Amino acid sequence: MSTDAPADAPGNSPAAKDVRYLLHPYTNGVKHRDRGPLIMQKGGGCWVTDDSGKRYLEGMAGLWCTSLGFGEERLIEAAAHQMRQLPYYHLFAHKSHDPAIELAERLCAMSPPSHDGPMDKVFFANSGSEANDTAIKLIWYYNNAIGRPEKKKIIARIKGYHGVTVASASLTGLPANHKDFDLPIANILHTGCPHHYFEAHEGESEEDFATRRAEELDQMIQEEGPETVAAFFAEPVMGAGGVIVPPPTYFEKIQKVLQKHDVLFVADEVICGFGRTGEMFGCETYGIVPDMVSVAKALSSAYLPISAVMANKTISDAVIDNSGKIGTFGHGYTYSGHPAAAAVALETLKIYEERDVISHVKQVAPRLQAGLRERFAGHPLVGEVRGVGLIGAVQLVADKAAKTPFEASQGVALKCADLAHDHGLVVRPLPGDAVAFSPPLVISEEEIDQLLERFGRALDDTAAWLSQAAA
Ligand code: PMP
Repeated sequence: MSTDAPADAPGNSPAAKDVRYLLHPYTNGVKHRDRGPLIMQKGGGCWVTDDSGKRYLEGMAGLWCTSLGFGEERLIEAAAHQMRQLPYYHLFAHKSHDPAIELAERLCAMSPPSHDGPMDKVFFANSGSEANDTAIKLIWYYNNAIGRPEKKKIIARIKGYHGVTVASASLTGLPANHKDFDLPIANILHTGCPHHYFEAHEGESEEDFATRRAEELDQMIQEEGPETVAAFFAEPVMGAGGVIVPPPTYFEKIQKVLQKHDVLFVADEVICGFGRTGEMFGCETYGIVPDMVSVAKALSSAYLPISAVMANKTISDAVIDNSGKIGTFGHGYTYSGHPAAAAVALETLKIYEERDVISHVKQVAPRLQAGLRERFAGHPLVGEVRGVGLIGAVQLVADKAAKTPFEASQGVALKCADLAHDHGLVVRPLPGDAVAFSPPLVISEEEIDQLLERFGRALDDTAAWLSQAAA
């Protein structure tokens, strides 16, 4: 297996060249020199195959994104067809093309509604980070346009994940995204994370914990001055920060605070959007009425990079009027609404509808959620099992009763994910030693059983590895 290929592998092997030439995202570069890459070569359905021919059940859908699995011919066809027709065009200076127009219309029609009706306009970008960066810029532009130049601060949450560009990494509430990058930038604040298991006071109910989090937000806005606070960014279910499922009344309470202070709600649906939580959007699952929504990943089942930020009519109208005053809307990417990516996204959305992917998620999700709980909640290494729909996590802890985390330096979740690889399962270790699951939405119940069985073996191996280390 290529994970075993050390840096001294023959100089021209792909593994050696990888170590020589690639700067890997989200990778410990020093460890990478020794262990080298795991090189994937093929995919089909919920499975991927590495360069040694070993097959893995892709329990993470790549990075929470390949919703339709790895071999959807209709998406491949949609890309090829569009590339033959018009491989590239842009949307600058009044230019347009059919895939972007149709996709924007479809997104507005299906989006979670805002206070003033459905989402009104779509701006296309290429990644979740760019969508969230754009959302920040739109908010600043909007508040300038309507004569509120003071109202600029943005509140995100500790452990929230919104991307890695300068502004979106500032929203992200994880230490590794700030340390030594000189982030966050000014005017970005972080409020507490809605994780009851770790953050509730002794004996505090979920309801009381949610109330406390909302009160803290209220206090933060009051202290900063409501006239300076523009927006609140949240993922309905926090993904990369640990798959943190909010207490049932959390968003209801948070939204009351935001309305009181006239603070916009940007729903980051980059992971939750398009069925992950069992409804089309996480906003539906949690009763969120957003002012703006960002989407990416499952928008195109990740076959081509594309993201979008949608804004309600109040914001869109003000932005458009302001661009008229300035002479142009001075924002846009060369690849905003790239026709091949837009065509693939459009086909992806058609497939969701035709195959009723949401009903499939609703049908199979209990198998994953109940299976994770039944099999692993009692395991000595597991403090909490959480999740909704087809997203879940198993929280590994050093002491179950005291909820004591492992030392980060032990790398327990990382080890567990490596051991899962050995058993032919891809899962993702998250900061704080949770192991995440986010399989393709098309996964079958039989494959979910395999996921659970393989993870069970990895978890037992992790326990064995820990006792060996302790001996
Ligand atoms: N928002 C959320 C909720 C995400 O999970 C991610 C990526 N994992 C992003 C934004 C950033 O997306 P990208 O990596 O495409 O920039």
